[in-house]
Amino acid sequence: MTRDERQAALDEIANEVRACTGCRLAGTRTRAVPGEGDPDTEVVFVGEGPGFNEDREGRPFVGRAGGMLVRLLASVGWRRDDVFITNVVKCRPPDNRDPQPDEIAACAPFLRRQLAVLDPAVVVTLGRYSMGTFMPGARIGQVHGTTAPADPDTGARDALVFAMYHPAAALRSPAVETDSFADVARVPGVLLRARERRAGSMPATATPSEAPATAAAAASDAAPTPEPTSMPAPAPEPTSMPAPAPEPAPPLGASRLAAADPAADDASQLTLF
Ligand code: URA
Repeated sequence: MTRDERQAALDEIANEVRACTGCRLAGTRTRAVPGEGDPDTEVVFVGEGPGFNEDREGRPFVGRAGGMLVRLLASVGWRRDDVFITNVVKCRPPDNRDPQPDEIAACAPFLRRQLAVLDPAVVVTLGRYSMGTFMPGARIGQVHGTTAPADPDTGARDALVFAMYHPAAALRSPAVETDSFADVARVPGVLLRARERRAGSMPATATPSEAPATAAAAASDAAPTPEPTSMPAPAPEPTSMPAPAPEPAPPLGASRLAAADPAADDASQLTLF
């Protein structure tokens, strides 16, 4: 798919989201929030659902939590325009209550289709509800800062999922903020690993330490493990993998550019964002 084709497909999904009446949230929203970002990105951030500001503007993460997300991204040298940002539910739950299971289920096809179009190398989940979509049964306190291969049924056909706390939680708790900056510092390394996987340098079939994130597997991961610290997480076996130590953020989109333009194989010719 070309960039224009991806953008057109994402626009079509966004238009359907804006017209959707598939659950009760349509009755209370001001504007639906389909998501936004670079159609060629390799990294998708998935939050929970729009809040007050997002509902007014029709854009994801534009309030205080969005400010925290931008700071987290900046800490690894990325901007919000370099990634794609969306949510599990596209309409604001009234009074910012938690999205309900039937609302998440009603909205799931939109996220699945967005991921199918974007084909990201890395999906970063922000908060419990997003994590629950990609690592069912997992606990955020245990899996934040760790990766698991995405279940292709999520729409992300060949991606690593990386779990983070919700940025709003980082605003509320200095300890979560510290963890969140440590976690996001691992994302560039996860991207490099995801690129290698996608290039076929790792086995195509799941290994015991890298099995698809299923409810059963995640449940078996629920045994108490040490909290990850600022350095590579202790291996929370068997489904999660510790990310490598933080390293300089690779330019986003480099592998897609290289695929589209053999001359771009030369890293020195890559235009960074
Ligand atoms: N919180 C979310 O989960 N998503 C947003 O878009 C804004 C706040």
